[in-house]
Amino acid sequence: MTNPQVLYDTLKTYFGYDAFRPLQEDIISTVLNGNDALVIMPTGGGKSICYQLPAMVMKGVSIVISPLIALMKDQVDGLNSNGIAAAFINSSQTEAELHDIYDHVKEGNIKLLYVAPESLTYLEPIFNTTEIGLFAVDEAHCISSWGHDFRPAYQQLGFLKNRFPKIPVIALTATADKATREDIASQLNISNAKQFISSFDRSNLSLTVKPGVDRLKQIISFLNERPFESGIVYCTSRKATETVASKLTAADFNAVAYHAGLGHEERSKIQDDFINDNTQIICATIAFGMGIDKSNIRWVIHYNLPKNIEGYYQEIGRAGRDGLPSDTVLFHSYADVVQLRQFATNASNSEVQLAKLDRMKQYADALTCRRRILLSYFGEYLEEDCGNCDVCKNPPQFFDGTIIAQKALSCIARLKEQEPIGTVIDVLRGSQNAAILDNGYQHIKTYGIAAEIAWLDWQQYIIQLINSGYVEIAFHEKNHLKLTSLAKEVLFNKQQVALTKPVYEKELGKPAK
Ligand code: ADP
Ligand code: ZN
Repeated sequence: MTNPQVLYDTLKTYFGYDAFRPLQEDIISTVLNGNDALVIMPTGGGKSICYQLPAMVMKGVSIVISPLIALMKDQVDGLNSNGIAAAFINSSQTEAELHDIYDHVKEGNIKLLYVAPESLTYLEPIFNTTEIGLFAVDEAHCISSWGHDFRPAYQQLGFLKNRFPKIPVIALTATADKATREDIASQLNISNAKQFISSFDRSNLSLTVKPGVDRLKQIISFLNERPFESGIVYCTSRKATETVASKLTAADFNAVAYHAGLGHEERSKIQDDFINDNTQIICATIAFGMGIDKSNIRWVIHYNLPKNIEGYYQEIGRAGRDGLPSDTVLFHSYADVVQLRQFATNASNSEVQLAKLDRMKQYADALTCRRRILLSYFGEYLEEDCGNCDVCKNPPQFFDGTIIAQKALSCIARLKEQEPIGTVIDVLRGSQNAAILDNGYQHIKTYGIAAEIAWLDWQQYIIQLINSGYVEIAFHEKNHLKLTSLAKEVLFNKQQVALTKPVYEKELGKPAK
């Protein structure tokens, strides 16, 4: 048993803090007692101390396996400036540099040694000669093909426990549903690891989902409410990050694009400028953010629908790490769902990815408290609705949409379930498009039966019909709309359908106070 006073003294001396955050002390004691630990803590929860502090107390060198090669140097510099003897090993180092590090380690001058999973073989000289305190596997979800950042080199890490059964392994991640959690423990051969799952509830983050129309206009009005606040706009494609950044710049905002296609130096400069408040807005792909420690990010916008809830939660989790109110907005567009479905279908583990995308979509389409949905995904249950999501603040108003539904469903039937949503709407509205006229659709019975409903309203109504199970999208058949058996109840048995009013015209909310 380590004397708790030693832990507090070490916390103060090397990290400058007086108190532990929830779970930290428990985790640290577990590891110091020689047991394995699996730590699931949201971004900003304080995972690093859970292995850095024990490393300072233990004998020998502790090995930290981290995927973030680009950030290793910064991490190590940061530790060194706190008086913690740390170093890193990667494939870019020269023989001489490596030997220098080996010597330092063997002399007992290094407490924390960072290494990428691909470079583990460089540790052989150390494995054979030096006492090891613990193994920390950071971003442990990378081990699992269930996770969203799968990294093949992580899968060899099971050898650590086999070869060094007495040395504790601590695996840490911000994102792991139950399946991923079990996968991590089993692949690392630490099935008996004590699991520490800290609350995922970040009640200071407001949650809003908006239809993805006029996104730039919506973003600009959102930003006008927050002239100097830092934030991130996440986009799926590199091109979109650049387009959005240049449009925001043209509107006089201080915005920069960031994606993996930029050079290493340019990327670190962008990161630094953002961290130091020289850049207000980063328009980025998901390449941006892992390992970035900036506590005053006040908002995160998803320009596109993320492909799963883990990624989404990690990305919005970068806002409000200081605990102050911060806003998140997700733009939900039908086109994104179609595109993500294609990506997922082509992936090697398509079944898993499609299931995850479905959960993401259910969240975005939710008509009940979004935070409840989000937390239940991570196995946590809220007693009450959160009061800080758009659904709680503005509960949907249902009306009798039976006639609208009947029109849409019979139009789909008359098009023989052979057309996608856009054509169905054009027919309902009596469009004179060449594509409509060439097909002779002006002669079918439902042509123009609901021209008084705006195109975008129709889109929302049909999406609601899809979400409530009346209509399906045949993703393998050019996205044609198909009727389900529920639809037949509406068409032939007068079943009633509740719809909600489209909401996209509303302005985004004012900053959280
Ligand atoms: P994570 O790796 O979980 O994203 P970090 O380990 O980077 O989180 O910690 C996030 C922030 O919280 C850092 O700025 C860190 O210094 C701070 N922090 C961690 N533990 C404590 C503590 N016990 N008291 C105060 N601040 C802490
Ligand atoms: Zn809510």
